[in-house]
Amino acid sequence: MTRPTPGAGRFAPSPSADLHIGNLRTAVLAWLFARSTGRRFLMRIEDLDDRTHADVAHRQLADLAALGITWDELPQWQSRQREHYVTVIDELAARGLTYECYCSRKDILSAPRAPHAPEGAYPGTCRELTEAERVAKRATGRPPALRLLADATQYTVTDLLHGSYTGVVDDFVLRRGDGVPAYNLAVVVDDARSGVDQVVRGDDLLSSSPRQAYLTDLLGHRLPVYAHVPLALNADGKRLAKRDGAVTLAELGAQRAFALITESLGWPSADPNELLTHFDPAGIPREPWVYQPV
Ligand code: GLU
Repeated sequence: MTRPTPGAGRFAPSPSADLHIGNLRTAVLAWLFARSTGRRFLMRIEDLDDRTHADVAHRQLADLAALGITWDELPQWQSRQREHYVTVIDELAARGLTYECYCSRKDILSAPRAPHAPEGAYPGTCRELTEAERVAKRATGRPPALRLLADATQYTVTDLLHGSYTGVVDDFVLRRGDGVPAYNLAVVVDDARSGVDQVVRGDDLLSSSPRQAYLTDLLGHRLPVYAHVPLALNADGKRLAKRDGAVTLAELGAQRAFALITESLGWPSADPNELLTHFDPAGIPREPWVYQPV
């Protein structure tokens, strides 16, 4: 009898800057969620954007390893997965589920919105263009983005910390005007391809999860379980950033960083495997962690 392959959790940093203690805390939580449920744990480098750097990615991986986080396969670099994004975009296009969008950010913000349409949602300007209008827009020279023709305006996901969460689905971008696959598309393709069935990440991404879940469903994949964990804030209540000082592993040292993280969770510990024995999803603080460098 073959045993079913366990599912997987993952951590997916964008290598635009070194991880700070808040990011590291999210990584520890993602690892704990995966390991405590017998899942594999995967690492993905989200380096599609040209503001990311390979040397930063290598430092991020070294920092995560220094904390005692372990992963089961070689890290996956999104920049090396482009063919898979292209395949999925082509599949959606063949199903008639994409359209070109010529709008600038300014166009989107200034477009009239339907009465109940949420701010930031794409107002659908380019959805109904005639072929003649498209030809005219193309001639203006701006390379178009490719959007999903969504037939929903909202979608509900299940989150282990937030319960049932309903959020906006709009005609979101699948491929940017510069040709780069968009974040929402890449995440869905990668998670499905690598067998990720548990997504643990910062709660700044909770509002993206309905779009991603909708696309996952549209592509015929099983939805992952989500856990969006509270972020770290600085003393002013703003999202923690590098300029807040003494926030990176290089500044804190691995031992100190690990101690701070485990104290913040309420399970002080010096060792990841010991921490694993204490871990209880229900006990995760629900409030943001206010971090004050010492
Ligand atoms: N790369 C994203 C970030 O660093 C995380 C994406 C995800 O976990 O889905 O915020």
